[in-house]
Amino acid sequence: MIFTNHKINFNADLCVGCGLCYKACFVDVIRWDAEKKQPVFKYVEDCEHCFYCQSVCKKNAIEVVPDFTSERFLQSFPQYK
Ligand code: SF4
Ligand code: SF4
Repeated sequence: MIFTNHKINFNADLCVGCGLCYKACFVDVIRWDAEKKQPVFKYVEDCEHCFYCQSVCKKNAIEVVPDFTSERFLQSFPQYK
């Protein structure tokens, strides 16, 4: 698993609560708030930046923003240690 300090921007105003992003995420980043009917980006540090959640959202409510320059990302490669 490669760690980065990237962000996931979520626009709750655009979200229609379809749950596709929650179903698309194959790791534990996205949880579901049943009361609000919206995703919760809970464990962003585990994100694999596959962009599935962003791709499946028909409302453009999600933007995955990788940070490949972060020290944490570079530490994933042995030659940078
Ligand atoms: S896919 Fe988009 S519209 Fe559907 S729940 Fe996720 S953020 Fe909301
Ligand atoms: S980019 Fe991939 S791993 Fe990251 S939250 Fe979205 S679906 Fe999950």
